[in-house]
Amino acid sequence: QTKLTSKAKDPFPDWKPGEPVPYAALCKTFSLIELTTKRLIIMEHCSLFLRQVLRLTPDDLLPTVLLMINKLAPDYAGVELGIGESLIMKAIGESTGRSLAVIKQDQKEIGDLGLVAVKSRSTQPTMFKPKPLTVRGVLKGLLGIATVSGNGAQGRKVDGIKKLLSSADASGGKVDITKDKGGPSEAKFIIRFLEGKLRLGLAEKTVLVSLAQAMICHEKEKKGQVPSTTDMAEAEGILKTVYSELPSYDVIIPAMLNHGIMNLRDHCKLRPGVPLKPMLAKPTKAITEVLDRFEGQTFTCEYKYDGERAQIHYVAKDTDEKLEAAPGATKEAAAGVASIFSRNSEDLSKKYPDILAKLHTWVKEDTKSFVLDCESVAWDVDEKKVLPFQQLMTRKKKDVKIEDVKVKVCVFAFDLLYLNGEAIVEKSLRERRELLHKAFLPVEGEFHFATSMDGQELDEIQTFLDESVKASCEGLMVKMLDGKESGYEPSKRSRNWLKIKKDYLSGIGDSLDLVVLGAYYGKGKRTSVYGAFLLACYNPSSESYETVCNIGTGFSEVVLEELHKALSEIVIDRPKPFYSHSSGGQHQPDVWFEPRYVWEVKTADLTLSPRYKAGCKEGVDPSGDKGISLRFPRFIKVRDDKKPDEATSSRQVAEMYRKQESVSKSKGPAVDDDF
Ligand code: ATP
Repeated sequence: QTKLTSKAKDPFPDWKPGEPVPYAALCKTFSLIELTTKRLIIMEHCSLFLRQVLRLTPDDLLPTVLLMINKLAPDYAGVELGIGESLIMKAIGESTGRSLAVIKQDQKEIGDLGLVAVKSRSTQPTMFKPKPLTVRGVLKGLLGIATVSGNGAQGRKVDGIKKLLSSADASGGKVDITKDKGGPSEAKFIIRFLEGKLRLGLAEKTVLVSLAQAMICHEKEKKGQVPSTTDMAEAEGILKTVYSELPSYDVIIPAMLNHGIMNLRDHCKLRPGVPLKPMLAKPTKAITEVLDRFEGQTFTCEYKYDGERAQIHYVAKDTDEKLEAAPGATKEAAAGVASIFSRNSEDLSKKYPDILAKLHTWVKEDTKSFVLDCESVAWDVDEKKVLPFQQLMTRKKKDVKIEDVKVKVCVFAFDLLYLNGEAIVEKSLRERRELLHKAFLPVEGEFHFATSMDGQELDEIQTFLDESVKASCEGLMVKMLDGKESGYEPSKRSRNWLKIKKDYLSGIGDSLDLVVLGAYYGKGKRTSVYGAFLLACYNPSSESYETVCNIGTGFSEVVLEELHKALSEIVIDRPKPFYSHSSGGQHQPDVWFEPRYVWEVKTADLTLSPRYKAGCKEGVDPSGDKGISLRFPRFIKVRDDKKPDEATSSRQVAEMYRKQESVSKSKGPAVDDDF
């Protein structure tokens, strides 16, 4: 705080008030951040920079924040760069006059494309000093690359990268590739942005807190004051809450600049059209564990439906309210406008035109706007019952025509977050449930309320769990029902929602969602496909993927063929620098992939193994050498609704490992199927 509030020497002398923020200034801050792993220091650098932006060029606050969090737009806008390693290598080669073969060779040796770009630029003689890049210019360039479509899109993307690289300053610091640091080079950070990983240890949460600090310091400074610790804490709390309800910097930052951070809650509330990150549940593996957690509190049990999470936003035509326009996401629904979003805030409207067409028939007359949390589940029209998740997967994902729909879906609503112009996330679950039941009309096979039971006794819960399984559900969700704690907590994996899955009652409590990093060629019957795969969990603090198991079980031949086809397209020459795996030669997969696919995997239990790196930094092994690994892992399904960064985190894996009853007993070495 001392540095934040003192008038330190101007660290960015080339940046004049009112002028666009120089990209070099941002990269200088990135380099300072890169030198440390201490969160407080990272936050201080980040805050200082944002404060300077507020003082000199507040108009650039939004692009600066976006470049810091490695995003071009809010998730729901669906703006993706869509660039693989090969395209980036092509662009580096062409913009620096080096052949692709040379670039590939460098990549093999250096292993970090950002540093390859630096090396390529620094060996290139420059005749003219390029016009300096600005933060807003870089964002515009990157957005241009992301939104190119149609004929020759790949070529134009390469051109876009070349344009940015040719203006990028690659000097500015001695490159020491052995230490994986490249100085404050613009080329390096542009490439890393394109790869989706700045690798600065600058988590989005850190940027959010830094932004709150910078803003409150700036506001106080203008009044000749210094913020107190309470002011700082209050500002952070406000921004965190507002962001969780309305995760869009595009909306929040202008409102914050206009009205001040302390008034932000009056201007930025949950609103139809902007999806919020859903509340998530913690795993448990016994009903007794649930009873221990909720001791002395009232709770409710609901069926845990096995389908796809859907957040439905709706505004009726005959009201003044508007559905915030997410580009392309707003769809005309009968009698109103609506959007359906996935767990990931992706637009599902093109997948579920059948839901949009019927939505208005489930709504009572005086229900004019709402945000509904529900599960869309495949439905057997003849038998009038829920079908397994696999059926839902056979539905087309895009441009579905209602007349072609073969797999019907039924919507099971379990929460209501917004109703008739008012956000209701802070109300208790009991109140929200009452409002939900009052606002909608169930229609058999189309729209149901989640089946629930408020009994608090072990026997009742056991019977209800058995019934849920008979009704083809995955198990139960048990939720706090009354009081402040039962409010809806967007984006949180909360202790106030617990899940009990039938399959995990005696195991580790949950399946894991893991990222595919590599594969091994098949043997015997599997020679034409990959026979086994290397999987990893995600560590958001270090922005790295930590390996957790090899897997070769649970795949049908058809699935193996499909996976081979999809994965062959994202093969890379060597592991990314942010893959953490043991270096032993015999443990390396035959091929490596870009981090793109997330698979759900079941396991018997967890054990420690020197071969894997999961949770190494979570202190599970006192020597720090061993990571956690899965025993007898089994493939369940591809999780299209999760991005690699949303895979099970190292911390969650460590939590599961610690909770395992038999941690103290020796389990023997990890078992890798098919090896
Ligand atoms: P998984 O779906 O594998 O359990 P997850 O990380 O996607 O993991 P969890 O929090 O673990 O999400 O489980 C909650 C999920 O269960 C929700 O995202 C939702 O899709 C689904 N679900 C089904 N029925 C309910 C219900 N009654 N209440 C809340 N969520 C439900």
